Amino acid sequence: MKSAMKGAFLPGNSTTVLQEVPVPSPGHGEVLLRMKASTICGSDIRCIYHEHLGKGPEGYQGVVAGHEPSGQIVQAGPGCRRFGVGDRVIVYHISGCGLCNDCRRGYMISCTSAQYRRAYGWQRDGGMAEYLLAEEKDLIHLPAELTYADGAQVACGFGTVYEGLEKIGISGNHAVLITGLGPVGLATGALCRKLGAQKIIGIDVVKERMQLALDLKLCDEVLESGPDNVAEVRRLTGGMGVERAVDCSANDQARATAIRATRRWGRIVFLGEGGRVEFNPSPDIIHDQKTIYGSWVTSTWLMEELVERLVRWNLHPADLVTHRFSLDNVDQAYTLMASGKCGKVAVCFDEEL
Ligand SMILES: [Zn+2]
Ligand SMILES: [Zn+2]
Repeated sequence: MKSAMKGAFLPGNSTTVLQEVPVPSPGHGEVLLRMKASTICGSDIRCIYHEHLGKGPEGYQGVVAGHEPSGQIVQAGPGCRRFGVGDRVIVYHISGCGLCNDCRRGYMISCTSAQYRRAYGWQRDGGMAEYLLAEEKDLIHLPAELTYADGAQVACGFGTVYEGLEKIGISGNHAVLITGLGPVGLATGALCRKLGAQKIIGIDVVKERMQLALDLKLCDEVLESGPDNVAEVRRLTGGMGVERAVDCSANDQARATAIRATRRWGRIVFLGEGGRVEFNPSPDIIHDQKTIYGSWVTSTWLMEELVERLVRWNLHPADLVTHRFSLDNVDQAYTLMASGKCGKVAVCFDEEL
């Protein structure tokens, strides 16, 4: 094992810095992963890349970037109980204290321990390096049927979407509206299909993303964002509106559209982070008996179930990866992701490149 490796850091001025750092060695209950795939998330761009805007759980502490890691265990520290050298794994991207109520529910994302909650790529070193030190309790087994790039996509994007869709419930009964067709919106289309939705309508402003949603058959109809969206969605659903809406845009207009284009008794989930929304509670939700859900990432147990479903459905999240870069070209990866003119962008190693 070599003693130094390259790792990518985000100084917060829309650049990426590649630096030499020591290769960590795993302590009790920890493993060292050879990184294989590390995808870039919208929140990396929103909270870190341009400016260090995030606070609390989204506060970037100058660590190796990347919170969507998947790799292979090359060293296991003492005390590991389930995983060992050679295992292929996904990293649940928030390492919680393991003992608070949220951690005990499997939702380390909302761990309440200020001292012990540390997210990979935010407060502890993440996946944009040759190796990653992870806690064994944060690992999800990656089945042989899925690639590491599939796994990296589960780590944040697909897991987050699956949680939101489980909250609102999706079936063949439902027409679904997706506002925002970035990687999270595209993942929503892919999972809604497998859950049985027969009519999926997407809204976005970026031409490349609208076209990708159609090319990959993740949406049946794609609308350009505009003031007539509610009427257009109603027209596409027999004048009624959709039964389910998923906001992946965080845009105030798009969120209002998601609420208003949903029919009576319908359900809406907000996944897109940041921003705000304005609506009129009585006509927009109360009188129409609608429910708005918020959903933040997912749990370790639901992530395990999702991985099993992906194999059963023969659904490969890596199909949404439009661009792959080596770690040496990590700066180009972030620049492209920041432009929005892409699907998912991945930094890959070895056989995944
Ligand atoms: Zn993410
Ligand atoms: Zn906790």
